[in-house]
Amino acid sequence: MTANLLDFDLEGLAGFCETLGEKRFRATQLFRWIHQRGASEFDQMSDLAKSLREKLRTRACVQGLPVISQSESADGTIKWLFDAGDGNAVEAVFIPEDDRGTLCVSSQAGCAVGCRFCSTGHQGFSRNLTTGEIVAQLWFAEHFLRKRLATEDRVISNVVMMGMGEPLQNYTALVPALKIMLDDHGYGLSRRRVTVSTSGVVPMIDRLAQECPVALAVSLHAPNDSLRDNLVPLNRKYPLSELLNACSRYLARAPRDFITFEYCMLDGVNDQPEHARQLVDLVRGAAAGKGMRCKFNLIPFNPFPASGLSRSPQPVVLAFAKILGDAGIVTTVRKTRGDDIDAACGQLAGDVRDRTRVGDRMAQQRTVMLQPVK
Ligand code: SF4
Repeated sequence: MTANLLDFDLEGLAGFCETLGEKRFRATQLFRWIHQRGASEFDQMSDLAKSLREKLRTRACVQGLPVISQSESADGTIKWLFDAGDGNAVEAVFIPEDDRGTLCVSSQAGCAVGCRFCSTGHQGFSRNLTTGEIVAQLWFAEHFLRKRLATEDRVISNVVMMGMGEPLQNYTALVPALKIMLDDHGYGLSRRRVTVSTSGVVPMIDRLAQECPVALAVSLHAPNDSLRDNLVPLNRKYPLSELLNACSRYLARAPRDFITFEYCMLDGVNDQPEHARQLVDLVRGAAAGKGMRCKFNLIPFNPFPASGLSRSPQPVVLAFAKILGDAGIVTTVRKTRGDDIDAACGQLAGDVRDRTRVGDRMAQQRTVMLQPVK
């Protein structure tokens, strides 16, 4: 069987080299060629012994995800649609800013959580991405951007696991992918600049704290269980008290000393002053009454037809932010980026072969226009 080397973190690649009868340190050279130099052909890897290159040619490959399309926003945001096979396509989005370049990465084709305000959730769930498919998004984007900008310097400084899917429901593929992002021989990203965003898979928050602590963002979206049960169905399994306790435990090992709470502002649903006051009480009462170190990120809702929801007016958002801010909670209102190319938060839909709602499947499948990559 041919192994896709994008599936391996450095430790895994060392093990693979051993199966070829090679010394483990060869893995470092190979890893650097793939991730730091973007090589996919073994013949490019000139400092590897010819005999090793021969073995690799028969036993391994470096297989990214085919790009179906690329869209560019007037604000510089770039969205790629990748072919994940079997009728599935997943999306990644690059968001350039003055002091950083952020890539938003998908972890699943579709999502089983089914948040009401999220277009990915409305598509249902097809399958988990492999480690290689998660990493392929960064591998492609980083080397595409370096080529375009004619630079050998790193372009992507931050990764947010906020694309399609619930990353902590794909934990075993996620963790090696994070390790590749963090590895100095890979992308060398700081733990503070790699963020896993979760809707609240409590046991996996605890595991992540032990096994690969990175920055944590929690999709909160409601200040009480009855509203959150409705907006984020996973809340029925892991209610707010359990979620906030897990966040407190996470902070003990986190590379940042706060949790980011994402809060999508939905007109007349969760955006009223009493909701803001409930949030203040919620985070003040967390961690056995000691309060939770946190920041709030208020996200403008990006409407899509099936949601039946609409965006909160800006004065409502600002009034909400003021209540949190007056209570001493750092609160930002996220600017929307890339909404002219459907790349803004909650708009990533890709193309998903829903395996959870078989009857709807035909309706879910859309034709994707094939466009050359510029
Ligand atoms: S918001 Fe995240 S967890 Fe919820 S349905 Fe969308 S992708 Fe899934």
